[in-house]
Amino acid sequence: MRILIISDIHANLTALETVLEHAGEVDGTWCLGDLVGYGPDPNECVELVRALPNLTCLIGNHDAAVVNQMDAATFNPEARVSIEWTLQQLSLPNLEYLAQLRNRIVVENVTLVHGSPRSPTFEYLLDTHLATINFAYFDTPYCFVGHTHLPAQYLLGNGQGHANLLIPQPNQVTRLASRSIINPGSVGQPRDRDPRAAYAIFETQNNSWDYRRIPYDIQSVQKRMKAHKLPERHIQRLAAGW
Ligand code: ZN
Repeated sequence: MRILIISDIHANLTALETVLEHAGEVDGTWCLGDLVGYGPDPNECVELVRALPNLTCLIGNHDAAVVNQMDAATFNPEARVSIEWTLQQLSLPNLEYLAQLRNRIVVENVTLVHGSPRSPTFEYLLDTHLATINFAYFDTPYCFVGHTHLPAQYLLGNGQGHANLLIPQPNQVTRLASRSIINPGSVGQPRDRDPRAAYAIFETQNNSWDYRRIPYDIQSVQKRMKAHKLPERHIQRLAAGW
């Protein structure tokens, strides 16, 4: 099966539509959470994701914040402004949809979480030390994570005590090594200084990982953010990818 892997859409409809079109035909989609927060199109993004065939979707920390599963006070002031704006915008059915999403799902030979297997919604896997600790918290060959908005592959080879970090090259297909923790990057708010939308295609037959970057119309998203008076910093960062 050809599975589309998306994460951290963050209410950026233009990036999401561009990714869905670029990905072409797939047998299913696994979405690693954060459908909303930061961007100008929360309802449109939730509705588009919900309608995808054979969808498996997780809750992210921003989704959890808008449905009050966590305290928005833990976010920085600008992120809080955007969470409050998002809450005002979201329709009741879309809020209810976000509220019932789970934070950890095992599908095929993969554990899916937003943050980390140890702390599915909140922990940021930002280095090999944290990744090493987290290999003890799942037992499938692979774990797919989002949350950091940074594409990465952490590998724990046979007999190895410490994970290695591999920064994947865009538009290259690799065969995933068992065991690994893999982050496809962010659709709607990349933070690796590459503003292009990030996603991956996972082929379940041979465990291949096709990691892709694709440009989208950032200015149109910025225009909508301006019109909604969303925080300037969030508008600026899209163009530079940080
Ligand atoms: Zn996120």
